[in-house]
Amino acid sequence: GFTRIDGNKEAKSITDEIKIEVSRMDASIHVVPGLAVILVGDRQDSASYVRNKKKACESAGIKSVDVCLPEDSSEEDVLKYIWNPCSVASTIAINPKKDVDGFHPQNMGLLAMRGREPDFVPCTPRGCIELLHRYNVEMEGKRAVVIGRSNIVGMPVAHLLQNEDATVTTIHSKTKNPEEIAREADILIAAAGQPNMVRGSWIKPGAVVIDVGINHIEDPSAPRGRRLVGDVCYEEACKVASAITPVPGGVGPMTIAMLLSNTLTSAKRIHEFE
Ligand code: NAD
Repeated sequence: GFTRIDGNKEAKSITDEIKIEVSRMDASIHVVPGLAVILVGDRQDSASYVRNKKKACESAGIKSVDVCLPEDSSEEDVLKYIWNPCSVASTIAINPKKDVDGFHPQNMGLLAMRGREPDFVPCTPRGCIELLHRYNVEMEGKRAVVIGRSNIVGMPVAHLLQNEDATVTTIHSKTKNPEEIAREADILIAAAGQPNMVRGSWIKPGAVVIDVGINHIEDPSAPRGRRLVGDVCYEEACKVASAITPVPGGVGPMTIAMLLSNTLTSAKRIHEFE
């Protein structure tokens, strides 16, 4: 049968567990984890991500602090809000032990090294792997194809799949025959930011498809004249894949749940709370 991978449901159960841990921490050591977000500029998608983070923090009992800075802020302006005595530039200014996005070069580097573990794994890639685990998708020895090689999604998710013992191929904008390569995948992760790029013909029958894409497309019949779609043509994929994440309601909510999880982990480690 065909499975619709329910990111909302899994994210809720993770958030519920985090909430319990947050109150246990508060009750025993009087510490409540907190997440600070510094938003530079006014990109709509970033603003909506920040709103969702804030809501999720509230539901898990995590404190949240927001700082909004103008688009033309200098590195120096941003650094004022990141307290770290050895700060040089904003990505390295974050203390790796508090790097809940997992983008510090130290954490990125450790992620890419065999036998080493970063303090934190980036949230969207971790959310993808978490969904595969929760739906008992076998990765060992399987062919995995990742579409996209960005620092925030494609590259780290390819490393994680390799750590799960999958055989991984990455497709990017210069790849010659993407359809043919994608069709070899037992597990296909699409993170190209191209609406409906992956058609039914790109998918191997029975493959598991994780659609990371979040794309706004014009649709006169939609309430605001706009609609959200992934990188995968869902209607076509449903007929070929064994399982797929919908957009919205797939990877998006998992990203937020992983951010809360990383925030809790950071606070627990810093306060040596088990
Ligand atoms: P990006 O633009 O930084 O990277 C896109 C990658 O896709 C690049 O490596 C590029 O080489 C590749 N690519 C682009 N067009 C291609 C094509 N036609 N064929 C093959 N490869 C192509 O984007 P990103 O930040 O990695 O995000 C990717 C998508 O995922 C976007 O839609 C973004 O909104 C979404 N996203 C979703 C979440 C979530 O929580 N669900 C989180 C982050 C990003």
